[in-house]
Amino acid sequence: MARVSIYCPHCQRHTSLEPAPTKTEIEGRRYTVAAIWRPDDYEAWWIGLCNYCGRAVLVQGEGHTVYPTALPSPTDKNIPDAIRSDLNEAKKCDTISAWPGCAVMARRAIQSAAIERGASGSKLVDQVADLASKGVITQDLKEWADVVRWVGNDAAHPGGQAVTQQDAEDILKLAEQFLHVIYVARPPSRRRAAKSVGSDGLGSHIRASERRVTGRCSEAGGVPPRAASRSPRAG
Ligand SMILES: [Zn+2]
Repeated sequence: MARVSIYCPHCQRHTSLEPAPTKTEIEGRRYTVAAIWRPDDYEAWWIGLCNYCGRAVLVQGEGHTVYPTALPSPTDKNIPDAIRSDLNEAKKCDTISAWPGCAVMARRAIQSAAIERGASGSKLVDQVADLASKGVITQDLKEWADVVRWVGNDAAHPGGQAVTQQDAEDILKLAEQFLHVIYVARPPSRRRAAKSVGSDGLGSHIRASERRVTGRCSEAGGVPPRAASRSPRAG
């Protein structure tokens, strides 16, 4: 079995799992083998032992499924409790493949941060624009927040575009980076922000989101401002 690294559901440490040794007897001779169950040629389940606390989890193949569910990565303690709680919930949704839930909670984390930073307005679109206009966040951060908002809005409303695993994980990462810049690595650096977006493909995600928005609005007969929301109910 390949080595699998997770946040252990028992001791909460980042750990590697070792296949559990189990004894078996074949033709009178005793052997120690890894505890693996292969229901067919394509699938294998095995018992992994945390190399820190030694407790067992059930693992499918290369770690695609783990029971009990592996914990998400810890969120920086410098992020205020309520906002960290929102982000942690987004991460928990991610660990159980609840992609729309992940997107909604990532969006909520951004809105909680906007309110905590003193943004005016009742809708997130206005709150983010307000922070940018006051210079509290850079244009790069505003773009990140807008992407989280777009996908979060789709996730929150019936009839919105489907939220894929890639969408959810992209905006979860974006939301956490946004919070890091504001609360952990302040003052925010434009150069660093631009580098982070460009290095992991999220820049193209932003551009794709913008194309979707402008495309939809063009089909509807109007050319919206660059940061227009992607549906009338979006906020
Ligand atoms: Zn452990």
